[in-house]
Amino acid sequence: MTTGVAILGSTGSIGTSTIRVIQRQSHRFRVVALTAFGSEELLREQATMLGVDFVGLVDGGGGVPTGSCVGRGCLVEAATRADADIVVNAVVGAAGLEATIAALRAGKRVALANKESLVMAGEIVLEAARSGGGRLVPVDSEHSAVLQCIHGRPEVEVRKLILTASGGPFREWPRERLAEATVEHALRHPTWQMGPKITVDSATLANKALEVIEAHHLFGLGYDAIEVVVHPQSIVHAFTEFVDGSVLAQVGYPSMELPILYALTYPERIDDDEVRRFDPIEAGPLTFERVRSEDFPTFALGVDAGRAGGTAPAVFNAANEVAVSRFLEGRLAFGRIPMTIEGVLGRHTIVPASDMETVMEADRWARSEAEASCS
Ligand code: NAD
Ligand code: MG
Repeated sequence: MTTGVAILGSTGSIGTSTIRVIQRQSHRFRVVALTAFGSEELLREQATMLGVDFVGLVDGGGGVPTGSCVGRGCLVEAATRADADIVVNAVVGAAGLEATIAALRAGKRVALANKESLVMAGEIVLEAARSGGGRLVPVDSEHSAVLQCIHGRPEVEVRKLILTASGGPFREWPRERLAEATVEHALRHPTWQMGPKITVDSATLANKALEVIEAHHLFGLGYDAIEVVVHPQSIVHAFTEFVDGSVLAQVGYPSMELPILYALTYPERIDDDEVRRFDPIEAGPLTFERVRSEDFPTFALGVDAGRAGGTAPAVFNAANEVAVSRFLEGRLAFGRIPMTIEGVLGRHTIVPASDMETVMEADRWARSEAEASCS
């Protein structure tokens, strides 16, 4: 019997990598549902190639194969199908949250690339897993690295995590130049091929702040126990320090295929012949630097929002999403991304993120505030 996998966001960077991984493991997995926002043609090609019955197009207008679904509801429908044992959530942004919760409530394993789910509503997501019997397994490479390091160890033995950051395309840029960085510069990531939103998040270091919050929820550690170090080669994905001072790291060439496969098979490991075998000499010298938080203020804004808790991380996330999309449209300067987020957070009154309505209201409020300050 093969395991059924629903892939939400199948046309994106993580989605297409997931399909490649599953095609190599077809004796173990079969794709049962695919969803995308608007790339109808690619979605249809994927559905035909994989022989998938359920195809969901969020922003679609007809012409999709039979058995399909159109509109936002497709995500939850795909995520809760009886034949889906695993849901790979590779949607970008807040749009992925509802499906993460629905899948966990329905008892599914969620291979989570959509870190925004945990950032916006960490406690609600964890509660959905507890009450529904679902299991959250990270796809993000740093969190996959931590999971691999702590496997088999009790939580009390873990003292600290050090997540690595490539530093993005502007790692060596002086502060004066950063304010004027263009979209083209920001999209030229040195080590990872990813969708546009996370690529810009890597350039501002917002991505690493989102990942600190994600790690806090996934591994139950306080913010003082989660550090970040810049590592331009992206070979070491994370360090885990234990109470006796021992430190384990997970290493490998930058590719999302390994963390995707691990999220599908965890805690097992299975053969993958196509993975590039590691050679430490070829990987070359590995270097580490401190984060230039004074020049990349979005990082501290995000971590502070995580520490503040309640609705603050959802507001940070929403303001960041709006600022990044305005930047990508050429309507906001790179240097104004953190200013926009800081302004919105400064005007927000934090309340406990006790239910989805509160979180979604904070998300809506932050989006309209950010829109207003961008225009
Ligand atoms: P992407 O932009 O390449 O793909 C996004 C996918 O989501 C597409 O299939 C798109 O159709 C779909 N989508 C977009 N907006 C949607 C909406 N409103 N409703 C429903 N579907 C929508 O993004 P990506 O780089 O694959 O990233 C996806 C997620 O994975 C993000 O949360 C990102 O932070 C995370 N992630 C990505 C990488 C990577 O290497 N790309 C690594 C770690 C984590
Ligand atoms: Mg990551």
